[in-house]
Amino acid sequence: MDKPAKRIEVLEESQTIAMAKASRQLKSQGYDVVNLSFGEPDFKTPEHIREAAKNFIDQGYVYYTPVAGIPELRQAICEKFKRENNLDFKPEQIIVSTGAKHSLMNLILTLVEVGDEVIIPTPYWVSYSEMVKLSEGTCVYVPGKEENNFKITPEQLEASITEKSRVFLFSSPCNPTGSVYTHDELHGLAKVLEKYPRIYVVADEIYEHINYVAKHETMAQFPELKNRVVVVNGVSKAFAMTGWRLGYIGAPEWIAAACDKLQSQFTSGTSAVSQHAAIAALNSPMEATKKMREIFTMRRDHIFERIQKIKGFKTISPDGAFYLFPNVSYYFGKKAGEKIITNSDDLCQYLLFEAHVAIVPGSAFGAEGYVRISYAASEEDLQKAMDRIEEALNKLQ
Ligand code: PMP
Ligand code: GLU
Repeated sequence: MDKPAKRIEVLEESQTIAMAKASRQLKSQGYDVVNLSFGEPDFKTPEHIREAAKNFIDQGYVYYTPVAGIPELRQAICEKFKRENNLDFKPEQIIVSTGAKHSLMNLILTLVEVGDEVIIPTPYWVSYSEMVKLSEGTCVYVPGKEENNFKITPEQLEASITEKSRVFLFSSPCNPTGSVYTHDELHGLAKVLEKYPRIYVVADEIYEHINYVAKHETMAQFPELKNRVVVVNGVSKAFAMTGWRLGYIGAPEWIAAACDKLQSQFTSGTSAVSQHAAIAALNSPMEATKKMREIFTMRRDHIFERIQKIKGFKTISPDGAFYLFPNVSYYFGKKAGEKIITNSDDLCQYLLFEAHVAIVPGSAFGAEGYVRISYAASEEDLQKAMDRIEEALNKLQ
């Protein structure tokens, strides 16, 4: 009786959120916990964005907005796509949602019929698999190999395609690996997908501006896939605006119309305040974003150097996002007192309670044997966490 419907019962709780929750709990008991589980910039939302939101509130007209977003914001998003990505979207093709997470859920619900297959390279962002489950689709995982920086090849993609394939869903820069597909790598994948017109691409580009190596490359640029790519983006990462909850898509018109209809029955438009803040963010010079990226680059270099000194933590230097994704399988089979560490979940639990450092098990991203460490934290916290992790690992036998 007292239980939720099956569709909720079968869902896993988001592990990124669960680890952050566990770390908060431990903190509330008085422990000094370093939380490297959550992927969110630790900077303040830039001042001019906060000011724009305050001005809007002060005018007092904080009402419902059109479900798909206010016209000025949809226009600003079109201009952003043109300016930064050379993509031509009309305002009717833009839908604003309550975070990119919401945009992704809208899209999966829109595109996936019961039994349809969604092709997802692993490691993948935690919520993809659960969104597909909720939509009664089937995930088809394609393993990105560590030796190829966790990226998949056109041959692997082609081998995964069946007549039920409906969506190819991936992020670049990637959460959790930080890998970034080059122009040619994306083009190789596009050439394969060109042959299968039933498949739509959902390109999660939320880390577009957290890219340390090159200009962002979007899957939507290839004429071979015209009208078959949906770009997902938002303001969370580029402008340190995770709590404002604002994401958006640029999509073929019929997909945008479907998402609009879905939102009309589900959430309505996202917060009017956040929409005004997002206009200010998207129309502003990118100075604050550039500064944040410089700081992330420094942190990445420092933490990468430091982590290499930790025995058994094998990792590549990420090209984007703000995560390290080391292979930690060296520690499996080792003992903490009576308890044997058998997998990444065990290791993360051990590090949380022994070292008071919260990180996320690779299993949550479809990649057992790894852990995800967010370096969206201060240098001081990062160094402290690395020292504690090393000390705790040294106790394992
Ligand atoms: N996609 C990826 C890959 C992410 O890491 C995140 C992080 N939150 C999201 C989507 C969702 O972003 P938002 O905060 O806009 O919902
Ligand atoms: N995207 C972030 C992460 O991966 C935020 C948490 C979430 O939304 O799951 O940690």
